[in-house]
Amino acid sequence: MNREPEVLVIGAGVIGVAAAHALAERGRRVSVIDTGEVGRGGSYGNAGLTVPSHAVPLANPGALRNGLKWLLDPESPFYVRPRFDPALWSWLWRFRAASNEPQVARGLPVLRDLLLAGRELFDTLTALPEMQCGYAQDGTLWVYRTRAGLAEAEEEAELLEEAGLRVERLDEAGVRTMAESVRPGVAGGIWFSQDGHMDPFLFVERLRERAESLGVEFAEKTGCLGFDVAGGRIGRVLTTKGDFDPQMVVLAAGSWSPSVARELGLRLPVQPGKGYSLTFARPASCPPLPVVCGEARVVATPLGGHLRLAGTLEMVGMDESINRQRVGAIHRAANRYLAGLEDMELVETWRGLRPCTPDGLPLLGRSAKWENLIVATGHAMLGLSLAPVTGEIVARLADDEETGFDLAGLRPERFG
Ligand SMILES: Cc1cc2nc3c(=O)[nH]c(=O)nc-3n(C[C@H](O)[C@H](O)[C@H](O)COP(=O)(O)OP(=O)(O)OC[C@H]3O[C@@H](n4cnc5c(N)ncnc54)[C@H](O)[C@@H]3O)c2cc1C
Repeated sequence: MNREPEVLVIGAGVIGVAAAHALAERGRRVSVIDTGEVGRGGSYGNAGLTVPSHAVPLANPGALRNGLKWLLDPESPFYVRPRFDPALWSWLWRFRAASNEPQVARGLPVLRDLLLAGRELFDTLTALPEMQCGYAQDGTLWVYRTRAGLAEAEEEAELLEEAGLRVERLDEAGVRTMAESVRPGVAGGIWFSQDGHMDPFLFVERLRERAESLGVEFAEKTGCLGFDVAGGRIGRVLTTKGDFDPQMVVLAAGSWSPSVARELGLRLPVQPGKGYSLTFARPASCPPLPVVCGEARVVATPLGGHLRLAGTLEMVGMDESINRQRVGAIHRAANRYLAGLEDMELVETWRGLRPCTPDGLPLLGRSAKWENLIVATGHAMLGLSLAPVTGEIVARLADDEETGFDLAGLRPERFG
């Protein structure tokens, strides 16, 4: 293990691996450390979507409206556990403050540009023979059972369309032509043809192998404990398996980033947003493309020999337990939209933590406080979608190059 890499990446989720890969492609000597195993954190069992259709920031007026409505429902897609936690309350306060139209108007083009650039990078990467991970560029089909749900979705679709994204509105017949297992009686749907999907863990594995072939070294079960700093720079990184003396550090520890950043005197307002997935053996009725069960915010993604159902956003702190009622609610919700899901063979139940920022935008850029620190976290629902473009941006920042993106709104220390 190289103890004096040019760049040390902290965290081997999809973001850290993508950053290491992009840095190594530019000839950097890179080591990556992770408390656990590569790709086994929040990046392991997610829904596998790449989603330009999610360019509206998570903090938006609709999310605020629905969030308040859902708070009291134990089976709703969103839940906040009431508790004494000043960091959570400050996060919620900032989320409320950011959920307005002017903020959405500022954030949407930034996310759109990143997501579309990410899409191109996925196309290029997954065309490589060694990067096969079930990637398909067939869009996502959003289905709504109620007129009210469809009307709300159309409002958001209009914003996306105005921003230049492709949106195709469908009536019930159109929906069922695309996915015949959608139950009759739905109000309609929207097809976002620029979305794609893949097996997310396979993607991380393939990217890790490719990074290794470019010389990147991965140290698993190696947690960052702290730092030695001097003169505005990080000198030494202290870990559970000895010290590293890198020239530059990339912080990509997902939902754990605030605790690592605290060692550097930085306050990153990232809250873990827990979600679940259920992976089943592929049923005969499996939809041919990902179906988003609109009102329920549950995704059904076909993944080779499997079908994965994913959903829920729980603000419950660093609690990695599995709430069986909510997991059951995901399956029940999918059943209301899609036929043939009743008796599937369950392969895996998973939970993961999404690193969520209060304004719905990642924390991405050079630190203002530490000259040789780059922060790359807070990707919330978009970590897979934004991983390759985040990696590319990190590599350009490390080379002091223009990134080609408007990163002003993503400054890691923007919350003070
Ligand atoms: C149910 C669900 C569905 C989702 N669906 C999608 C989707 O369809 N599309 C999409 O784009 N995104 C999706 N996401 C979001 C996506 O999974 C996350 O945004 C992404 O995984 C975040 O990646 P990350 O690398 O920042 O964090 P992680 O993958 O969590 O990686 C962080 C790593 O840091 C390590 N670490 C922590 N502390 C330390 C330390 N002190 N020292 C060293 N290492 C440390 C952890 O062990 C972990 O491996 C979904 C998430 C969930 C939960």
